[in-house]
Amino acid sequence: EVKKNGKNGHQFFSPVLDEQLLLKIELESDLRKAVQRQELELYYQPQFQTGSYSMIGIEALVRWRHPTKGLLSPGVFIPIAEETGLIYEIGTWTLHEACRQMKEWHLAGGPLIPVSVNLSSRQFHQSNLVAYIREILQETGLEPQYLELEITESMMMDAAVSAEILRELDEFGVKISLDDFGTGYSSLSYLKQFPIHKLKIDRSFISDITRNASDQAIVATIISMAKHLNMEVIAEGIETKGQLDFLTENSCQEIQGYYFSRPLPAQEVEAAFFTPYRLDHTWTTFREV
Ligand code: C2E
Ligand code: MG
Ligand code: MG
Ligand code: MG
Repeated sequence: EVKKNGKNGHQFFSPVLDEQLLLKIELESDLRKAVQRQELELYYQPQFQTGSYSMIGIEALVRWRHPTKGLLSPGVFIPIAEETGLIYEIGTWTLHEACRQMKEWHLAGGPLIPVSVNLSSRQFHQSNLVAYIREILQETGLEPQYLELEITESMMMDAAVSAEILRELDEFGVKISLDDFGTGYSSLSYLKQFPIHKLKIDRSFISDITRNASDQAIVATIISMAKHLNMEVIAEGIETKGQLDFLTENSCQEIQGYYFSRPLPAQEVEAAFFTPYRLDHTWTTFREV
């Protein structure tokens, strides 16, 4: 007997969905072994001061070198890690590796700049987050002022991300940045309740900034607000000279984006730090000094 359409739901089960589901299940099971098998890697994207173009920081961005699928971006596996709770293990590895690497670079005579690490809201559900960050800093020897934690605006609305925890981190000397600023659901009053050191203007406001008057107004306002609140401000996702010019004219202190440098594997960062070259403001080149 042929089943009727519309009653039993099977007709909604398209092969495409099936494939996506299978991929997810496969990735989930692979991800469980990824840390132990040392398949995770950190890439680093430098951040620059506007005008002088001196490097003022570097953001650690996790990648997964999957045995058969190649290099996977965090957009593919971080959501799975968050859903499954694997984010605790991955988050710990990421924090530890970023701090270890930065300390190694400092000791080798690299620039004394901080490393930024992205946190997931679930990491705040660990009751001992502050203690465990302290422990990582002690183990790796990285001084707290060289660690910056990136949280998103939406995370501030999560009850687990309390002002109290952030204050403890602040007192300890670790800096907090508000990532993807302008896209979340937080209210501005959070900015005075939480010890936030830096606003990172989301790249969605930057991509069309040379043409879009609303984006121009929003970005100029965020820059001005940051100044008045005594916070630093950085724009992310700068890809063109035109975008850079707008941000320079509007006194944005710091910039990050493909125009200067893509996220680089540690080896390439080292090449920039330890050979007589420096990063030029066109992203592909390390120009000889
Ligand atoms: P994010 O923290 O906002 O990082 C910026 C993202 O924009 C990075 O993507 C970076 O490669 C990309 N980007 C930088 N400059 C440009 C540009 O000029 N143009 C364009 N189109 N993109 C640019 P990525 O590395 O794929 O990371 C995506 C997101 O994954 C991050 O967004 C962050 O939210 C999350 N993520 C990355 N690493 C970690 C991690 O270790 N832990 C957690 N919890 N999340 C992470
Ligand atoms: Mg970030
Ligand atoms: Mg961001
Ligand atoms: Mg972003």
